[in-house]
Amino acid sequence: MQQLDLQATFPGLTVMQNEPLAHYTNTKTGGPADWLAFPKTREEAAGFVTFAREHDMPLTVIGNASNLIVREGGIRGLVLILTAMKAISVTDNVLTADAGAALIEATEVAYQHNLTGFEFAAGIPGSVGGAVFMNAGAYGGEVKDIITSVDVLTRDGVFKTYPATVMDFSYRHSLVQENGDIVLGAQFTLAAGQAATIRAQMDDLNARRAAKQPLEYPSCGSVFKRPTGYFAGKLITDSDLRGYTSGGAQVSRKHAGFIINVGGATATDYLAVIAHVQETVFTKFGVHLETEVRIIGEN
Ligand SMILES: Cc1cc2nc3c(=O)[nH]c(=O)nc-3n(C[C@H](O)[C@H](O)[C@H](O)COP(=O)(O)OP(=O)(O)OC[C@H]3O[C@@H](n4cnc5c(N)ncnc54)[C@H](O)[C@@H]3O)c2cc1C
Repeated sequence: MQQLDLQATFPGLTVMQNEPLAHYTNTKTGGPADWLAFPKTREEAAGFVTFAREHDMPLTVIGNASNLIVREGGIRGLVLILTAMKAISVTDNVLTADAGAALIEATEVAYQHNLTGFEFAAGIPGSVGGAVFMNAGAYGGEVKDIITSVDVLTRDGVFKTYPATVMDFSYRHSLVQENGDIVLGAQFTLAAGQAATIRAQMDDLNARRAAKQPLEYPSCGSVFKRPTGYFAGKLITDSDLRGYTSGGAQVSRKHAGFIINVGGATATDYLAVIAHVQETVFTKFGVHLETEVRIIGEN
């Protein structure tokens, strides 16, 4: 795999070799990608996908890496980060965004066009592609409530558009988690609203986040999914795990659902804290905490 020279194959494009993904993840942890590229267009992305397929190279696609733990051994093959594909446009009440556009930027553009419906995502630090993949949501709203179609590239290199109805959205789940398609962009249908009301709602949600979440530290947001009938943060608190630390990773004292990097954390530290939390909560309450954060890469 290492003998292939992707930089020579894709002259003029940004391609890096053995690049530490800790430089890109929100937790500031993670091993290297054999190859890392930043396509700026759908065609460039398709070129990398075709190259990987033709050379039997594993291919991983990530967005803003805000819901990701990359194990220390890193990721073999080619990793695409889509954040250079970031156009956002509005026609009437439809907002169209490339996969790499920041979700927060999309909410700002919606506000600038007096469009309501996107406010719930004002503080979610992911990309549009990652938000579609995760069916991201907060404060009673979810991507599935406003999305109307999704543009994808299949692993075979075929461009497709799915109506939202086939996306199989549910709590932190979507079709692309199952079929491996790469999200290239999405369309959101919003409603006409009042700028002042939209701004007030976004500011309120961001203030609530800042009050409750340890935004002053690197993290990957809520580490665990909400178990049916419980709240992960409360189970963790009731298990006396606030402040539990392994190396530089610590269960936040401000919001027990977050694991923060208090300095020098590694992915191994994160995984150790996650395993300890899962084991302790299961022993005490018989509830399995399933991770919401995606854990990828080699040990
Ligand atoms: C402080 C903080 C607060 C957060 N608050 C929330 C919240 O309120 N609600 C919420 O839902 N989440 C929240 N998150 C988590 C995270 O922001 C969301 O899950 C977001 O949708 C992830 O997007 P991303 O671009 O960062 O995805 P990444 O972390 O880059 O990737 C996540 C997964 O999506 C896949 N993926 C990413 N892009 C694509 C693509 N284009 N095509 C195919 N697969 C792709 C990756 O392979 C990976 O499996 C928070 C995170 C942080 C750090």
